[in-house]
Amino acid sequence: MRIPDLALHRPGSLDEAFEATAAHPDHDLLGGGTDLLCNYKWRLNVRPHVISLRHLPELQGEAAGPLAAGRTLHELEHCPVLAQLCPELSRAAAQIATPLIRRTATLGGNLHLDTRCWHFNQTAEWRLAHDSCLKAEADQCRVQPVPGDVCVATYSGDLAPVLMAYGAEAVLVGPDGERRVPLSEYYALDGIRRFAERKPGELMLRLDLPQDAGDWTVRYQKLRLRETFDFPEGGVAVGVRWADQPGGEIAEARVASTAYDSVPRVHPDLAERLVGRQIQEDVAEELGASLREEVRPMKNTSMSPAYRKKMARVLAKRALLACLPSS
Ligand SMILES: Cc1cc2nc3c(=O)[nH]c(=O)nc-3n(C[C@H](O)[C@H](O)[C@H](O)COP(=O)(O)OP(=O)(O)OC[C@H]3O[C@@H](n4cnc5c(N)ncnc54)[C@H](O)[C@@H]3O)c2cc1C
Ligand code: SF4
Repeated sequence: MRIPDLALHRPGSLDEAFEATAAHPDHDLLGGGTDLLCNYKWRLNVRPHVISLRHLPELQGEAAGPLAAGRTLHELEHCPVLAQLCPELSRAAAQIATPLIRRTATLGGNLHLDTRCWHFNQTAEWRLAHDSCLKAEADQCRVQPVPGDVCVATYSGDLAPVLMAYGAEAVLVGPDGERRVPLSEYYALDGIRRFAERKPGELMLRLDLPQDAGDWTVRYQKLRLRETFDFPEGGVAVGVRWADQPGGEIAEARVASTAYDSVPRVHPDLAERLVGRQIQEDVAEELGASLREEVRPMKNTSMSPAYRKKMARVLAKRALLACLPSS
């Protein structure tokens, strides 16, 4: 399958990038292209202009920082700074897709991954034979036909929940300068719109972790069909900060999930219930049962919603128990 005709722009600086985005409002940004160009080959929401971020020094290279948006997943996997600061991010990156894809795919692309759905990620011929849907060429959602005007496609990125568990902030840059948003507030519960408030021309520069990130123990658990290649069908990250010694009382906690909604999201109420407690089998069981109640997977991925919901309990329980130093 071929990429359709389009104009590729390769700005060499942020100013050139903003000029290109302003001159061509009907554009997509391009990281490694492992998501966007697959969609383009299937003629999914193709835009006439594509603006590559691969030549912006602010997004890649050592000077851009360990969590620059243009870093490849391979770099995240093997970065000694990240291995110290947020080792679970490197481990999660190492589980994504395949080694070849990780050499090209970027952190920014992973956090902006398009939402996925059986009715959408299909060839144009398949879609048109099935009347297509709201996210492509038609005006109704096929997964949730009533009311039918909201897309409930699934966000399936692995890194967002892990970064949320570390308390990461997204640093965005646009023609008006930089701004910061907690990653947990960056997304909108809408499979088409996807982001709460993206300003024209804005792109993601990097992620920043809080000063105390190194004090947190984060563990991520992922459900998928095969142990390589496949997108998550469910993913849960749990982060804890110990009050005193590792394995003792929890001073602060975060719980985040992916592949259950159109957004990766935090579960603050569940995290709050862990504070002041020690990790034990019954505490982990309680967390799992509560998360299972909270997630609402849709029938739009390979595994059934019932199984994915059931596995939310298992993933959350495993992630919390894995935070124990002895595990
Ligand atoms: C076979 C296969 C298996 C996969 N398995 C997994 C998996 O297990 N887990 C997983 O998480 N992902 C998986 N992926 C999805 C995806 O390829 C990766 O997540 C990858 O990180 C996307 O990065 P990219 O740079 O290639 O994104 P691109 O395709 O270049 O871009 C994706 C989106 O991000 C936007 N974007 C990119 N950079 C920025 C930026 N700096 N600021 C604003 N917007 C930006 C683009 O405009 C586009 O909308 C898989 C993909 C394939 C093809
Ligand atoms: S959730 Fe609905 S609108 Fe969204 S891609 Fe699937 S069928 Fe289309």
